[in-house]
Amino acid sequence: MKINGETQIIGFFGSTYKTSKMYAMYNAAFHTLNLNYIYVPFIVNDLKKAVEGIRNLGIKGVGVTIPYKIAIVKYLDELDENAKRIGAVNVVINNNGKLIGGNTDGLGGVKALKEVTKISGKKVILLGAGGAARALAFAIKDEDGNLVIVNRTEEIGDDLAKAVGSKFIQFHQLDKEIKDADILINATSIGMAPNDNKSLVDKQFLHSDLIVMDIVTNPKETKLLKMAKKMRCKIVYGERMLFWQAVLKFKLFTGIGIPIKVMEESLYA
Ligand code: NAP
Repeated sequence: MKINGETQIIGFFGSTYKTSKMYAMYNAAFHTLNLNYIYVPFIVNDLKKAVEGIRNLGIKGVGVTIPYKIAIVKYLDELDENAKRIGAVNVVINNNGKLIGGNTDGLGGVKALKEVTKISGKKVILLGAGGAARALAFAIKDEDGNLVIVNRTEEIGDDLAKAVGSKFIQFHQLDKEIKDADILINATSIGMAPNDNKSLVDKQFLHSDLIVMDIVTNPKETKLLKMAKKMRCKIVYGERMLFWQAVLKFKLFTGIGIPIKVMEESLYA
């Protein structure tokens, strides 16, 4: 890798900066395409100042993750239409000094699901109404999925359901709703390490016609996915959403389509 005065810097803002797999994925793709870009971690001590740094240091773009996806919004100049409706960003592009926030989580999740099923006309139960769930809810509605949102905090779940035009239910109603559902998505943080012995859905509610996606990526196979496998459901790992949201960001960072195979090999290396 040659670093010179023309090198475009892409940064990473997130508490997972030590363990993120994005450095390997992006840098392998930059190398393969012979692009003079580098993807590096940033340690964010003061978010406002860090955002000023994007502008003042001429950083080309930044991937954004927990805990900054919502907090960063107020420091940006503009949000694209998708990020605006979600209210959170996972990418910032520096367009000649103008910082524009975007969000590829929802479409990334939809692309992961579409590797195994179509979404149009399918009954999709979405667990959660946080940042990732919001992104997914809009993207699933864009695909004409028949969406049902379940969330612990009623007010937050109901707000999201109203915003996307879907049904909201509480967890105690899940057993009835899941019987004729086609797709179940866990978009809560339940199941994440170190509390990876938890699932919001009991095994007896899962049926073999159900496709189960868990967007939690650590561990790769959550308790929910393990149970779903036992019940002969098709499963989708959160890692596939992580992959696709990163692929979509690559285009935003560089304007160039991604060498998918190279990025995929880096993710699974
Ligand atoms: P978030 O905004 O903090 O939302 C958390 C969600 O989990 C909320 O709906 C919350 O419900 C629910 N929740 C938390 N504790 C709960 C409990 N004890 N019982 C029931 N529900 C509970 O987080 P996020 O950014 O959406 O991220 C959620 C998960 O998705 C994380 O594991 C994250 O790593 C993962 N993620 C994966 C990808 C990917 O590409 N695979 C992308 C983004 C995020 P309340 O509203 O009731 O609090």
